[in-house]
Amino acid sequence: MMRTRFTVLPLLLSLATTPALAQDNPKVAAQKADAARGVDEMAKMAQEMVDSVFSFGELGMQEVETSKYLTGMLEKYGFKVQRGVAGIPTAWVATWGSGKPVIAMGSDIDGIPQASQKPGVAYFDPLIEGAPGHGEGHNTGMPLQVVAALAVKRIMERDKLPGTLMLWPGVAEEQLASKAWYVRDGVFKDVDITLFAHVGNNLGVSWGDGGGNGMVSVEYTFTGETAHSAGAPWRGRSALDAVELMDAGWNYRREHLRLSQRSHYVITNGGDQPNVVPRNASVWYYFRESDQPHIKELWDIGNKMAEGAALMTNTAWTSRILGTAYPQHMNKTVAEVMYENIKKVGLPQWSEADQTLAKALQKELGNARQEGLAVKLEELRGPVKPEDNYGGGSDDIGDISWNVPTVTLRYPANIPGLPGHNWSSGIASATPIAHKGVVAGAKVMAMTVLDFMNRPELVQQAWDYYKNVQTKDRKYIPFITDKDPPATHLNANILAKYREQMKKMYYDPTKYSTYLEQLGIQYPTIRTSGTKQQQQEQ
Ligand SMILES: [Zn+2]
Repeated sequence: MMRTRFTVLPLLLSLATTPALAQDNPKVAAQKADAARGVDEMAKMAQEMVDSVFSFGELGMQEVETSKYLTGMLEKYGFKVQRGVAGIPTAWVATWGSGKPVIAMGSDIDGIPQASQKPGVAYFDPLIEGAPGHGEGHNTGMPLQVVAALAVKRIMERDKLPGTLMLWPGVAEEQLASKAWYVRDGVFKDVDITLFAHVGNNLGVSWGDGGGNGMVSVEYTFTGETAHSAGAPWRGRSALDAVELMDAGWNYRREHLRLSQRSHYVITNGGDQPNVVPRNASVWYYFRESDQPHIKELWDIGNKMAEGAALMTNTAWTSRILGTAYPQHMNKTVAEVMYENIKKVGLPQWSEADQTLAKALQKELGNARQEGLAVKLEELRGPVKPEDNYGGGSDDIGDISWNVPTVTLRYPANIPGLPGHNWSSGIASATPIAHKGVVAGAKVMAMTVLDFMNRPELVQQAWDYYKNVQTKDRKYIPFITDKDPPATHLNANILAKYREQMKKMYYDPTKYSTYLEQLGIQYPTIRTSGTKQQQQEQ
């Protein structure tokens, strides 16, 4: 992704710069050192949580074991848990403490279809063929937040600091299907600062308009009429024809769309059997663009395609929004505060085994460079200019970022140079790479929470930026209405198919020190004779 570093908009020069961040007063400095020590003491617990959530491998809206496990853990430590928030069964909010500031600490928890993979093995080797798994590394984010929150909680209790810790999961992030609903239903209405965490391959944070796209995800359903496909085909009207014509129309139109758009679809219902003209058929689209007006425009074009396809086939159509993500805008003050802590913590010390695994996987995937794991910290990233944004993925943290000062901490729990949404992104996710990345990230997170707990002027300044810069000329216009329900049905069929097999693979920390040990995997396991590509060529 192309990014512009340290872009300073002229507008921002009028704002006071963040006051003396690099130098903590001695009290805060001591608290931060204690928090970092506390995180180190919980490293074993972090590893068990990372490995457990990895082993659950659940898809969006079906994070049943994951949510049960994490909320159980938080209740054990005195957090008050509210379940089923925003009408989503696997969503929850866990709070501890009282009063201001309210700091929301969240991360995604869902996996990827077809991403079942043995951790620590540097080639495709599924635990269960065809099953879902953590092919993005979302198993690591909530463990990071739990450990960070517990480290801060100890200090708040000891030093009698006022404030509320609010932990919450990004449910169904891969379908962008929860965070806009949280915002709509008021889950963030009392929050002062949101500190989100997302797996990456370095320790970093950014502010301003992010790269990538926002999006809406819409399922179109066509209705026709059944008939005997051979005996009386002229009596039928095929909903599948409508789906195919809509897709063909979209693929022609694609050439004349902006370079920043991304759009993709899967046919979720193609009919029942060939000898019955399909009465119902559905196609599910993701429409991605770089800003709100262009997302809306893309969605309108999609609706026109559906209308055209219905006219051509004499069918009727309806549609339903299944997910949405606003383009992201991260808070300057919060990012600057966090970046000071990133510099204090630094990257983890990678072992030779960690680097061997990383380089072997990069080789396996045919990457031009086998650079291994990150050894140099990223710089603090500024805004991406619209003309430099060539589009890309989305995260519904964008919806929260337009309602509360927010940043995303990227922490180094994965290997650089992977395609994403793929089995290869699960390989590091239950290994020492992920365990160390989570510990480093938890320290940054805990230290940043302590900054905002101790210094109300920083909370104030973050809101000044939010009100006077971020939302000065642009307002949040959500893509969902009051009536759109959350798409809680998603992925139920896939989990129904694999759940029983997956249960047998859950990690048991009472018997095994690590999941690698439970699986009997030697770390790292790499190919000894050529890459997959070379083997296929032979
Ligand atoms: Zn993600």
